Amino acid sequence: MTDGPSQRGLVVVIAGPSGVGKGSVHRGVRDALPDSALSVSVTTRAPRPSEVDGVDYRFVDRATFEAMIDRGELLEWAEYAGQLYGTPRDPVRELVTAGQVVVLDIEVQGALQVKRHLPDALLVFLVPPSFEELEHRLRGRGTEDDEAIARRLRAARQEIDQQDAFDVVVVNDDLDRCVDEVIALIEDARS
Ligand code: 5GP
Repeated sequence: MTDGPSQRGLVVVIAGPSGVGKGSVHRGVRDALPDSALSVSVTTRAPRPSEVDGVDYRFVDRATFEAMIDRGELLEWAEYAGQLYGTPRDPVRELVTAGQVVVLDIEVQGALQVKRHLPDALLVFLVPPSFEELEHRLRGRGTEDDEAIARRLRAARQEIDQQDAFDVVVVNDDLDRCVDEVIALIEDARS
């Protein structure tokens, strides 16, 4: 008998444009896989009313974020729509070593940095059924003003252009179907 993990640890990046449903897919995967874990990102963005510091994000000021970059504490980081976002390195390393699936909900530039540092990571790119549907979902969410939505839609077009750099592209047309497809990809990557 060993005390080691029963299955291989894996970093799974679920990227895709803002509004595509990454958060829901992320939650679906975590609910379906008992040995999966959350990576809590650091950001300079202000919390939304429902968000909790240390759960949804660690909310920090720019100076704190820049100090984390300088100390090499981030596995990846990127500027998105005027704010900084990054993944703390140590928690990811510890969870993967313990055999967990660590799911990162991050944007494209960060996803590509993860692949450079961790070539075994599984990179999933989520796309909406159409661009119109993406705009509809972003507006329906009601968390951003018109200018922020316009910025996110511009970023989305640039992100969608980079989908070829991912291991697999999954259409989020139906949440349950999409989660099932991602779980099958994870199981395949771990076996
Ligand atoms: P939001 O402001 O809507 O929470 O996130 C904006 C974008 O930043 C989303 O595409 C989200 O996936 C991405 N994001 C969140 N955390 C990170 C992170 O740690 N690193 C990177 N590169 N992107 C992140």
